Amino acid sequence: MINQTLVQYFHWYYNEEEKLWNKARKEAGHLEDLGVTMVWFPPAYKSTEGANSVGYDCYDLYDLGEFDQKGSVETKYGSREEYIAAIKTLQEKHITVMADVVLNHKAGADELEKIPVRRVNPHNREEFISDVFEIEAWTKFTFPGRAGKYSAFIWDYHAFSGIDWAADLQEEGIFSIQNSYGDGWEQVPSGEFGNYDYLMFNDVDFRNPAVREELKRWGEWYYKTCGMKGFRLDAVKHVSADFLNEWIDHMNATFNEKFFIVAENWVTAQVEELHAYIEETGGRMQLFDSILHTNFYLAGLAEERYDLSKIFDGTLTQTHPFLSITFVDNHDSQPLQALQSYVEYWFRPLAYALILLREHGIPCIFYPDLYGCKYSDKNEAGEEVEVELIGLPNLHVISRIRKFLAHGLQRDYFDHPNCIGWTREGDDENPNSGLAVVMSNGDEGIKTMEIGQRHAGKTFTDALGIWQEPVVIDENGWADFSCQGKSVSIWTSGYSQ
Ligand code: CA
Repeated sequence: MINQTLVQYFHWYYNEEEKLWNKARKEAGHLEDLGVTMVWFPPAYKSTEGANSVGYDCYDLYDLGEFDQKGSVETKYGSREEYIAAIKTLQEKHITVMADVVLNHKAGADELEKIPVRRVNPHNREEFISDVFEIEAWTKFTFPGRAGKYSAFIWDYHAFSGIDWAADLQEEGIFSIQNSYGDGWEQVPSGEFGNYDYLMFNDVDFRNPAVREELKRWGEWYYKTCGMKGFRLDAVKHVSADFLNEWIDHMNATFNEKFFIVAENWVTAQVEELHAYIEETGGRMQLFDSILHTNFYLAGLAEERYDLSKIFDGTLTQTHPFLSITFVDNHDSQPLQALQSYVEYWFRPLAYALILLREHGIPCIFYPDLYGCKYSDKNEAGEEVEVELIGLPNLHVISRIRKFLAHGLQRDYFDHPNCIGWTREGDDENPNSGLAVVMSNGDEGIKTMEIGQRHAGKTFTDALGIWQEPVVIDENGWADFSCQGKSVSIWTSGYSQ
């Protein structure tokens, strides 16, 4: 069986001279060598800031860097041709591409409309604090730069349930739009603020059947144009789950495919919310295990006060191992971003061992951990701050060990608050496979663990080169495996660089 490995191939502040699509194309061979089987690309369509947009403020889903809109032809990441070429090259290397799909909202409308709205209490969205009245708002999208190519669909206020700016009044707020398709907000998974349908910009109203049809037509066009086999669905807790189910079923049925779908549903403690979402979506989607990320973050901060034996407690990986996408950090949790909770450096190799070398969860590697990055932005106090994230020197080793050696029966030794370990027995399909991992968040650690009799008499060494002396597996398939304090060692008999 192949171990799936995902890479989030961007971060919030991607600022390298080389455009991202071109870099990904050139790196395809390297990624294959690392054992990467899937690449998650950022939103590829034109957004309100044109070439400066990260992509989540999407304007025109049909403009993949082809039309002169929002001040540029190309997006931040390159042109439509470069995007398609990157996808093709990655697929030639047996790497699935996952496109980022932002359906909750649109931004940067072309024209004002006079629209009926009600003011909403931002802290309780179910509380309407005015009668219906008219405002002028940016709700009409005509895409003049694209001029009807690929789709003649015009978005107007009947396609949106809410907006945050009354242009004529110069007033910020949350305005519920009275269109022909529903009163108030749509039912969405998140009940935060009463109802969390509205997140930002122009909130798409999926009760409008023309919107549903247009987004399905767009999905067909997107796949036919680019050929990606996976989708990452943005901000699903603000979107009607019924619609997303319908969209996924439509895509799978139309193309006789089973697209790989991952949903972003950020929760930090209540795994029950993720369970409810799995129920609502019938297991159609994988979910990011943001609870495991939070555990990594807390473990890094608490050092030896954290109980490592409980690192998987309360996570999605523990309850739904086959639907869980595990990750250390992402573009929202990196420093200076909205959900900033960057896992401490000393803990990152431990966290990567925990997601890459165990049998459960599909791990997702974060771009800066592979390549490093440097950027600056304003912090909460409004001061410009410089950040440097350093790539992890051992990540390529851990990732290749996942590919070649992390196979077979897993035996867990999560039996001490400061030192845990596990072994993989290996299998016949993968030569020299099998490994033992020991990690500590306190002092030097040692674990007596069974790796299996098939390894009796073999010499194992730490593939990370941190623990110098080798160990020999005894006749019953056991050995004492060590690691240094606040460190991880990965014991193998067959790793070569
Ligand atoms: Ca919404």
